Amino acid sequence: MDALAEELFHAYQDFHYNGLPSSNNGRVNVEFEAKLYNDIECFIRGGVCSYLINTAAYYNWLEYITNYGLSHPTWDNLLEKINFWDNKNYWDFLQEFSESNSGYNYLPNYDMEPKAILNMLEKSKQIGC
Ligand SMILES: [Zn+2]
Repeated sequence: MDALAEELFHAYQDFHYNGLPSSNNGRVNVEFEAKLYNDIECFIRGGVCSYLINTAAYYNWLEYITNYGLSHPTWDNLLEKINFWDNKNYWDFLQEFSESNSGYNYLPNYDMEPKAILNMLEKSKQIGC
């Protein structure tokens, strides 16, 4: 994980959400969102990536939501559940991340859609990078 890229994404979230969560409510959401953003970008660039969750299901999911590294996902892509990656979607992987990392083991806020990531992906689409 590129630490600077993650910090920059947190700064973007801070701006986008009008402040980062000051309580544990939503804390794991912003962490997962930042790390997933990094994974999506790395997958699309096709470099050597150390992914957030080291399972075939997560890798297959990244492959699907980026259309094999060709495009950025939409919210609909992130919500889809298909047998091939154990019927997991954004919320399931968020929960998995939370449960397997003691530092981020807070209840996810299921009302908090990853608006920062989606906005960022929309912007990269517009400028074509
Ligand atoms: Zn972080």
